This record gives sequence, structure tokens and C-alpha cells, in this order.
Amino acid sequence: MRKILFWGVMLSMFAQSPVNGKNFDLQKYTHPAPYSVEKIQTPKGKKVKNVILMIGDGMSLAHVQCAWTCNRGHLWLENAQYTGLSQTPIANQLIAESGSGGTALAIGHQTVYHAAGVDAKGNPQPSLIELAHAKGLSTGVAVTCRLWDATPCDFLAHYIDRDESELLIGQFPDSPVDYVFGGGQRYFKPENRPDKRDVFAELEGKGYKVMKNYEEFLGYEGGKAYCVPFEGDTPVPAERGDMLAKASLKELSLLSRDKDGFFMMIEGSQLDDYGHFNNIQMLMEETLDFDRTVGEVFKWAAQDGETLVVVTADHETGGLTLLDGDLASGTVEVKFTTDDHSGVIVPIYAFGPQAQNFTGFMTNTELCHKIQSLLKLK
Ligand SMILES: [Zn+2]
Repeated sequence: MRKILFWGVMLSMFAQSPVNGKNFDLQKYTHPAPYSVEKIQTPKGKKVKNVILMIGDGMSLAHVQCAWTCNRGHLWLENAQYTGLSQTPIANQLIAESGSGGTALAIGHQTVYHAAGVDAKGNPQPSLIELAHAKGLSTGVAVTCRLWDATPCDFLAHYIDRDESELLIGQFPDSPVDYVFGGGQRYFKPENRPDKRDVFAELEGKGYKVMKNYEEFLGYEGGKAYCVPFEGDTPVPAERGDMLAKASLKELSLLSRDKDGFFMMIEGSQLDDYGHFNNIQMLMEETLDFDRTVGEVFKWAAQDGETLVVVTADHETGGLTLLDGDLASGTVEVKFTTDDHSGVIVPIYAFGPQAQNFTGFMTNTELCHKIQSLLKLK
């Protein structure tokens, strides 16, 4: 009996001690600034001319439900006409990260842990950006992270190891993408690269306008362009405001000049970071910023009428659970169960023509194949 008691005490002590300094205890957070959400009229037509893929990095149903509670029971995401579930296993293990999980969405092949834009054998495969360009569509990417982070590299580069930051950025001039917004000037600059290449100069040599100022980009009306206003990631939501929404809308206005249509990828990149840090306040700020961006994009798509928007995630981060809370005050009581990714299934939200294709159980690669077929890319 004493022995059982001893081990019981030991086990409970172990269970309560933070692992790697992370906080797996109950966390309570009240969101101070709810926003209102409108009902968006859904387009009537069936034709898909443009597709916008929006990725909440590390966003599972628990993240969305916490954000919904923080915002007093409303999210722009709820305007999605159809919802589905995406399985995210990868070629060599159950649990994906943003290299392998995003690659499945970008190229439609399962790949190995930490790969970006290549299949499980390490062979480069064309991403939705490259296939769309080859069919004469315009293409764009807008993210809040540094551009050498995994998700943008899944779409714009090809390498077996997502951590080779300088190498991946060095491939960007080979991508046919038209418009890119994101953080991460560092590895475009020769002084920070072992090969001393000036990647911004190379992009200019390929006809891109390179802007390091966000306001300049908002007024830009020209052809292909990169806007990279920060050395690393974009600032936290409280500082950057509606930057992701505004940069995305800017790209949409530029991309929609193409009569052949366009494909665009937009990422709420840092949900994943705050899942890793087990920081519920910052995780909610990022998730709500992503939701407001979703709202702006849905409204734009509703006006356009021929644009399909698909919102999903590459994997779950943090093993987040919602244990209690209060809708009236926007309070959540949560626990994280890991400082890493989990294998929990992630949601799909679809808005616009042919949204009904994104329901039920899907795999991340199937989701890519559906976009390929709707845009007649393959
Ligand atoms: Zn992650």
C-alpha cells in the first residue's frame, strides 16, 4: 500500500512538472477586444476562376473553438459554406511539421519529415504556384513569417531540409511567383549569406520590383513584386495591426487583373510559434488576426463571385484543449499537452464556387489535387 502511495505521489509530481520549461498547467485567458462579424452573402455561380488557399499554421479545431469563445461566439470563419476534416500524416511518420505538412498541400505528394517542395524520394515536384503559372495564371504568396520559414518555402522552393534557410531563399529567383509579401530580409542580403549572393538584386534582374516598405506596397500598381519589410518575422499582431489582411487584399487586387485567373496562398504563420511556446494569449491574438484576414478574403471573394477560398492547417501545434471558459466575457481555460506538434486532425473551411468539394474526410494531398483539378492545372 505504501509502495503504491509512493509511486502515486511520484507520478503526480512528474505529471505536474513543466517539461522543457513549458507550461502544461491550466491557463486562463480573457480576450479584451472582441470584434463584430457579419454574415457574408455567398456567390451564386459555379465557375472557379481563382483559388485562394489559406493556411493557419498549427491550427486545429481547438484553436478555432478557443478563438470563437474569446470573440464571444463569433468568427468570420463561420461564413464558410462547407467544412471538412484533413488528415495530415506524412510519408515516414504520423505527425507532420510545416515542411512536410505544407508540402503535401503545395505539391500534392506526401513527403518526409522536414522536406520542403520535394516528394518522399527528395525529387522536386511542381507546387500549385508553378503549375498555375505554367497554365497562364497569376500567383501570389502572403505570410506573416520570415520567408525562409517552411510554409512559403513549400510553395516557392524545393529541398529535402527546410532548415537550409540560405539555400531555400537562394532558390526564390527561380520561382515563377508574381507577388510575395512576408518577413525575412536577412537571407536575401549578401552579407548574411555564405555564398555572398544578393538575392534582392537577382530578383530585380528578373523583373521584380523589390520593396522594403509596407506602405509603398499598399500603393503599388505595377507588375511582379516582392515586399519584404522586416529583417525576420513580421511584428506581433498588436504592432503589425491588420497588415496580413491589407497585404493580402493588395495582392488580390493585383492578381485579379489577370483574365486567366490566379492562385494565391495566404498563411497565418505564427499560430504555430505560440502553440510551441504554450502561450495562449499570443496564440489567440494570432488566431483572431488570421480570422479577420479570412473575413476580408471571404468578402473579397463574395464580391468577385468566381473565387474559391479554402482554409485549412498543415498540422496541429501544442496539443491544445479547451477545458472551460465563459462566452460572455471571452474567457478560455486551456491546457497545452505538448510543446511540439500533435497528430490531431485539422479542419477545412471552404467558401465560394465548388466549396462543396471540400467536405468529409480528406487527406492534405487530396486537398491539393482538388485545387489542381478545379483550376485545370493537371
Ligand atoms: Zn511548428
